Amino acid sequence: MSNDKDYNKVQVLIVGAGPAGLACAIQLKAQKPDIDVCVIEKAADLGNHNLSGAALEAEPLHTLLDSAVPGWQDSEQDKDVLANKVSKDDVMFFLGKKISFNIFFAIKLAKKFGLGFGQMIHKGDYIVSISKLTKWMGRLAKELGVEVLTGFAAEDIILDESADKAIGVKLVDQGLDKEGNKQPNFVEGEIIGADFIVLAEGCDGLLTEKFVEKAGLQRQSPQLYSVGIKELIKVSSEQYSKFTSGRDPALRESRVVHAMGYPIWTPVFGPGMFGGGIMYPAGDDNIAVGMIVGADWKYHDFNPQDALTNFKSHRFVKQFIDGGTVVEAGAKMIPEGGYYAIPRDPQIGSIGKGNCVIVGDSAGFVNMLKIKGLHNAIDSGTVAAKAIAETQDLPRTTAARYTELIDRSNVAKEMKSARNFRQAIAQFGPLLGMPLSVLGGLLPEFKIEEDYKAMTTARYTLKTGQQFDKDTFTAMAATEHREEQPSHLKILDSNICAEKCAPKWHGHLGRVFTGLKPVPQSPCITFCPAGVYETVHGQVKPANPSNCLHCKTCQRKCPFDNIRWTVPEGAGGPRYKRM
Ligand code: SF4
Ligand code: SF4
Repeated sequence: MSNDKDYNKVQVLIVGAGPAGLACAIQLKAQKPDIDVCVIEKAADLGNHNLSGAALEAEPLHTLLDSAVPGWQDSEQDKDVLANKVSKDDVMFFLGKKISFNIFFAIKLAKKFGLGFGQMIHKGDYIVSISKLTKWMGRLAKELGVEVLTGFAAEDIILDESADKAIGVKLVDQGLDKEGNKQPNFVEGEIIGADFIVLAEGCDGLLTEKFVEKAGLQRQSPQLYSVGIKELIKVSSEQYSKFTSGRDPALRESRVVHAMGYPIWTPVFGPGMFGGGIMYPAGDDNIAVGMIVGADWKYHDFNPQDALTNFKSHRFVKQFIDGGTVVEAGAKMIPEGGYYAIPRDPQIGSIGKGNCVIVGDSAGFVNMLKIKGLHNAIDSGTVAAKAIAETQDLPRTTAARYTELIDRSNVAKEMKSARNFRQAIAQFGPLLGMPLSVLGGLLPEFKIEEDYKAMTTARYTLKTGQQFDKDTFTAMAATEHREEQPSHLKILDSNICAEKCAPKWHGHLGRVFTGLKPVPQSPCITFCPAGVYETVHGQVKPANPSNCLHCKTCQRKCPFDNIRWTVPEGAGGPRYKRM
């Protein structure tokens, strides 16, 4: 690294203004008012790139704000963000398009006997829009004196020569044309130097993965992902009231529905994918409807949006949303690998190295037994702040101290309790894996492969018979990028597309219809939720990069690991408001 650059130097640099990063900023500034804390976020505005269910366990947020922001519960914005609480918790099993059973009693029974599945209870949680939560936490951070900069996309993290210490991050160059030539408005991406760096980018963070590689961190088991597709649907007041069990809206309490089975898993006879559907009330007669599917699906012609269409047409779901209007939509991945997929230093086990720590979804702190990670994101961000405050004069010890505190916290306790859950299902499939996962930590550690290796020539048998309208979906995510910039989606070797991918799948396709004629299609064209990939003059290309929702599915699901997601110019991407 050259030393002749103008450094923009801060004491603490947090990459990513999600709940984990902002929790870190809030705690740090409350604990050390004189420390200078800067949060950079690639989205145009706070909350724009945040999408989740979302049920939020209240305790970590309450603990953070009670000490850092006295009187926080008095503000109107707080009342809006934390308006709904779960009072009714339904866990459904769907068998085919019409039949449904409520199996919540089994979850309660599991809780009684101390089994892992008993964690899947949401009663008392807040039902939140993570976009709104993030915006609100950003405001609280700013009020404490944190510098929160939106539209700042970082493309690299710089370490010192020994790779023991992070020096800073490099922002993306702005003002290149599609071919990479400098335009008159070209601005070279600055380097922001920092004494401490907190990686809080969310799932599959670009800098996080670069840091893992450069600093030599390792995962015991590869990270596994799922793809979440979500729509916010405006329904009639009657439907909304029926969904929330007819409860008085003034009570501000409501129910959540989690569903297993159809359309992604039918024991023995049907598809065998991990995941399920969700339905959450979102206020103002909006119901959030979503589908989460383990990215180790094997069907080359599967698109999670088709599963969402099937889910919405199930009799149980349909009664609440029929005739409704989709008002917002989006997609995101979730890290599911759990305890064994946390990146650690191979020598000392630290989650980070020296002065750089990894928090929230970037570290993989999602507890799949609870289907929740927001509380762990907030908790880990808070813990990171405490570690930085304690080691302010010894930055090389920060990651070790952070890990000590995490290992004693509730985050580690629950991650350990859920270890092997997702791996058991990846190894044996839902039918055998689900019951086996009850044994959790007693099971041996499985050798799990990356999700992209799972794809086969098998077909998803529950196709909807029509193509999902990806253009409308993308419009509902309000995604935007400056058109005249280099594509941030890179196909590494187009020969692989033509010589390996097409021959493997095209003979087996016939699921996409042009009129009545089936036409062959490559997997990336099928599964990208925003229709970014197309065949142009016989070659698969990321033809519409400006549609990208930043879900990163393509770089984890291309069956030949042939796609890399890089960072576009700052302020590009979806503009979620209530996701
Ligand atoms: Fe196939 Fe991947 Fe190429 Fe798409 S990018 S055509 S999925 S090899
Ligand atoms: Fe997601 Fe990749 Fe499609 Fe962008 S191009 S929306 S990251 S699958």
